[in-house]
Amino acid sequence: MATPPNQRIERSRRTILDALNQSFPATRQELSRRTGLAPSTVAGIVRGLLAEGLVREHAADGQTGRGRPSSRLSPRRPPGHLVGIDFGHTHIAAALATTAQEIVAEARTRLDVEASAGNALDQAAVLVADLLDRTGVPAGSVLRTAAGIPGPVNQATGRIQSATILAGWTGVRPRQELTARLGGEVLIANDAELAALAEHTHGTGRNASDLIYVKASHGIGAGLILAGRRYTGAYGASGEIGHTLIQEGGAQCRCGQRGCLESVVSIGEVWRQLVAAGLPLPERTEWPDDLSLAALAGNPVAARIITDAGRRIGRVLSDLCNALDPAMLIIGGELATAGDPLLEGIRESLRRFAQPAISDRVQVHTSSLGPRAGLIGALTLAATESAA
Ligand SMILES: [Zn+2]
Repeated sequence: MATPPNQRIERSRRTILDALNQSFPATRQELSRRTGLAPSTVAGIVRGLLAEGLVREHAADGQTGRGRPSSRLSPRRPPGHLVGIDFGHTHIAAALATTAQEIVAEARTRLDVEASAGNALDQAAVLVADLLDRTGVPAGSVLRTAAGIPGPVNQATGRIQSATILAGWTGVRPRQELTARLGGEVLIANDAELAALAEHTHGTGRNASDLIYVKASHGIGAGLILAGRRYTGAYGASGEIGHTLIQEGGAQCRCGQRGCLESVVSIGEVWRQLVAAGLPLPERTEWPDDLSLAALAGNPVAARIITDAGRRIGRVLSDLCNALDPAMLIIGGELATAGDPLLEGIRESLRRFAQPAISDRVQVHTSSLGPRAGLIGALTLAATESAA
């Protein structure tokens, strides 16, 4: 079936921007050659990018007119730096990058982020100060900071508004708090949304204008890219699939309900099941943020446990797919390190519970950016959006 025109344009636009980011300046003719897009398509899309201010044009030597096929184009990048911060449940990561999103330095620290918002925000400010010290970049050079939070962020009020999902942060306004600590412009978004943005801009989802990123970790959350844009929902709580009921009277979840998806398939619960099945994993009382199930590849007992977790996630994703019809599901978080057995379980549920028109076509992949997806997404947000 033919791709709808708006998706085709969005894809071509992305292709041209990516080609230009990879090597510039470039003429329209060069872009056409490098992307394989027709000269007329390139000309039309470049006109839009110039109008949006994303691209600038320098007249070629000896020419005065603009818009000529031989005049040269560059991405518009102000000088300076960007900061990205990723708050996980058990870690904080920060990166300093140029406005072209080239990472200059990054650092991470382990911390119980949920226990105290104030402490986590202080630690984030320390990480950023260390990055600036280490690189000699003056604080005044940072144009914008963006941070991902593992909970719903109300974009209108800037508050974390869920007593059930990130209890220790309820009522906190991370944007104001980080602005007070770091200065400059600060943007805040949900961590899974930022990972979705990263995959859409730099990863597996580069050619998909509609995708769902699932962070399957200590919690289970989804980030949505719809019609090429990050979708937050009216109150910033879109994609909170972790608290979907999948087992009446099941295990108690941290949200107070029983039988939530997250209480059944969080990395902690799956790890516990793997240990209980006698698999060679260390018992853990403290959860580091770099758990990997990759070492269990090929183990048939592990595969059954992991495929079962995949089926349960897939059951919830089937409903979401029926409602939104995404082209791609990208699975990230520690659970995604299990790879194929997890994806097989998800695909199995999609075949069973999603409409065939959807399950036949939707692609299911693991994240290509891995545990850094949220951090890269924060830098992408800082590079592409402003608070104004
Ligand atoms: Zn719950």
